[in-house]
Amino acid sequence: MTHNKKHHPETVAIHAGRAPHEHEGVVNPPVYHVSTILFDTYDEFMKAESGTLPTSTYGRHGTESNRSFEAALAELEGADKCLLTTSGLSAISITLFALLSPGDHLLISDSVYSPTRFFCEHELKRANIEVEYYDPLIGAGIEKLIKPNTKVIYTESPGSLTFEVQDIPAIVKAAHAKGALVVLDNTWATPFYFRAFDFGVDVSIHSATKYIGGHSDLMMGVINTTEKLYSTIKRCYKNFGMAVGPDDLYLAQRGLRTMMLRVRQQEQTALEIAKWLKTQPQVSRVLHPALPDCPGHDLWKRDFKGSTGLFSVILKDKLSTEQLNAFLNKMELFKMGYSWGGYESLIIPLLAEKIRTVNKWQAEGSGFRIFCGMENIDDLKADLEVAFARI
Ligand SMILES: *Cc1c(COP(=O)(O)O)cnc(C)c1O
Repeated sequence: MTHNKKHHPETVAIHAGRAPHEHEGVVNPPVYHVSTILFDTYDEFMKAESGTLPTSTYGRHGTESNRSFEAALAELEGADKCLLTTSGLSAISITLFALLSPGDHLLISDSVYSPTRFFCEHELKRANIEVEYYDPLIGAGIEKLIKPNTKVIYTESPGSLTFEVQDIPAIVKAAHAKGALVVLDNTWATPFYFRAFDFGVDVSIHSATKYIGGHSDLMMGVINTTEKLYSTIKRCYKNFGMAVGPDDLYLAQRGLRTMMLRVRQQEQTALEIAKWLKTQPQVSRVLHPALPDCPGHDLWKRDFKGSTGLFSVILKDKLSTEQLNAFLNKMELFKMGYSWGGYESLIIPLLAEKIRTVNKWQAEGSGFRIFCGMENIDDLKADLEVAFARI
């Protein structure tokens, strides 16, 4: 099912991982609901035991449905291999646990998604793994932090709350020169806008809950990686009993086929809303990688093919609780809720102060993280305009 390498990513997203001729011409690959898989003969059973059967042996190990979707996601990002997990966070935790051993040193971005940080603080430290945070804008300077026992550098670019864009090529160069691996949380950019393996990363992680699922109705994670690391990560994955449910798999596979349209539409809306916010008198900065206010904007211009629907805005003033209530509670379209990448717009207060340890997050005023869905842009603007009027 490997396609013409000259095809563009949006074409790959449509055709990869599908083989209608193998399924009575059916366009969408069938998804099996399964735990038990039967063997007809002793010989078959023993072959299954020794792993020489091409089919699966048990529901937890996945079926052709998993493998075809994994192949599509790997192909889209230029990875050799893919593993599907039960959430973005489990993709992160399995990867880190697989690659690190007691006594190893992990360098991780200070701007990282908070639950990733909590996993490191609570689980990796308990396993005697050294966890050190670095300034997301460190670039080639990361070299000075790499120690003989540094095994992994974990990046997220841009950070999904504060949007610092990282110099991934410089970090990859420094890491590989000293034998360390680079893991990237690439959820924001999607494989369309940052083809992680073209930049030499060793593992690229996606929360498929976001853009791939696209409809706020499933949880899933993606680990894309190289042939070289696959067996190490797969072992850990298996031993932790990772198995995605068939209904989620079906929805995610469906989501992938229309993902590019959604991502593009949300890109346009978010960019226009971000630029408009910049002109509002209450706004101090807009942290959108495609706008110059954003730390690392030049790196975004150099390395990314586009931007997506999520960004943050910082106001000039700190709002009182009363004003925050007034701003947020009466929103008609931008509802408050975690996650993003669905069809609907979302907003959450930006609470980064308590998280950072390397470079303290200090904003002049209150901040919000905004996700632009697919509503009409004038309606979205009006919703924000009225909210500003309320404060
Ligand atoms: C949401 C998110 C995750 C975690 O994904 P879940 O599917 O919610 O577990 C990881 N990284 C980033 C950047 C995210 O936004």
